[in-house]
Amino acid sequence: MNIPLLDLKAQFQPLRNEILAVVQTVCDEQGFILGPRVVAFEESVARYIGSRYAIGCASGSDALLLSLMAMGVKAGDEVITIPFTFFATAGAISRLGAKPVFVDIQPDTFNIDPALIERAITPRTKAIIPVHLFGQCADMAAINEIATRKKLYVIEDACQAIGAAQQEQRAGILGDTGCFSFFPSKNLGGFGDGGLITTNDKALADSMAMLRVHGSQVRYLHEVIGFNSRLDALQAAVLQVKLQYLDQWNEGRRRNAERYRQLFARTKQVDCVVLPPTRPGNFHVYNQFTVRVPKRDELRAFLKEKGVGTEVYYPLPMHLQNCYRELGHEKGSFPLSEQAAEEVMSIPIYPELTEAQQGYVVETIAEFYRRD
Ligand SMILES: *Cc1c(COP(=O)(O)O)cnc(C)c1O
Repeated sequence: MNIPLLDLKAQFQPLRNEILAVVQTVCDEQGFILGPRVVAFEESVARYIGSRYAIGCASGSDALLLSLMAMGVKAGDEVITIPFTFFATAGAISRLGAKPVFVDIQPDTFNIDPALIERAITPRTKAIIPVHLFGQCADMAAINEIATRKKLYVIEDACQAIGAAQQEQRAGILGDTGCFSFFPSKNLGGFGDGGLITTNDKALADSMAMLRVHGSQVRYLHEVIGFNSRLDALQAAVLQVKLQYLDQWNEGRRRNAERYRQLFARTKQVDCVVLPPTRPGNFHVYNQFTVRVPKRDELRAFLKEKGVGTEVYYPLPMHLQNCYRELGHEKGSFPLSEQAAEEVMSIPIYPELTEAQQGYVVETIAEFYRRD
């Protein structure tokens, strides 16, 4: 069997005609930058998330950057986030000359540990960026309680969590802004780069809408210094089609996660594999199904030989990256993030995965551990 980590061709095939038709329409219209297709998509996403506003932009990375800019984060400020994330979370902070201040994760959910946030706050702290890693929301009640008391903004990095929810509220309205990515491997993936920010705050929405077009409201008149970060009409048209299927795909991912739980529970020799728990009140959308395993690298090599795709998200935490040497952290600074980086591996969870394929994945893992 050959089971890739993600099979985008399997997702595209049934939608082929529907998507090619809208692409053709956009080509006939020849309107490519923002415009009615982007507005329509923004309105659809706002309705889906339950936010008052949605602002399309060029990527998830820019969604984070635009949020921070609208909140006035600047050189010398500090922003709290986790080291066990994709680079973009920390990178957006650094691009503004602000300092990423890291807080370690909870070992089970891989999300920020709210109990560690307060001691990281200084008079220069402006915001907290919890990451809803792998598709499960961070503990937003605890984070918001601290943020309200300390007068800090909260930016959700929901790039891996479109459709996820906590206490029946969707990711994207659990903080001041919610940042989404339409990178092809996300649960709602475009045909290239794309991103979007949700918010209920009109001032932030207006500011972000202006910042993404060089800080301008009236053409060639610039109120603030912005940059170019727009969602293409072509991407918006494709995403508008795909948005209709998002809930169905997320349900497929959740069904597959349940199947893995059953398969792992009834297979011998796989007790050592730690499956990702869901905290009460969380609706997990499994952008990744990430397990902790002994002998991770040997297991991955074995699975690869047997045709099973895996990936390590993420092998080196931000505080140990060369580009963050000057922050002065060392090995041991954030032990739970470091341990996760050494032990985790993501296995195929995409919606089109079959029960037979999942059985093969689990059986092959069991075969590996039986060998030693
Ligand atoms: C994908 C991702 C981003 C960045 O999204 P891009 O659209 O690739 O710029 C940011 N944060 C996290 C956690 C992500 O997974």
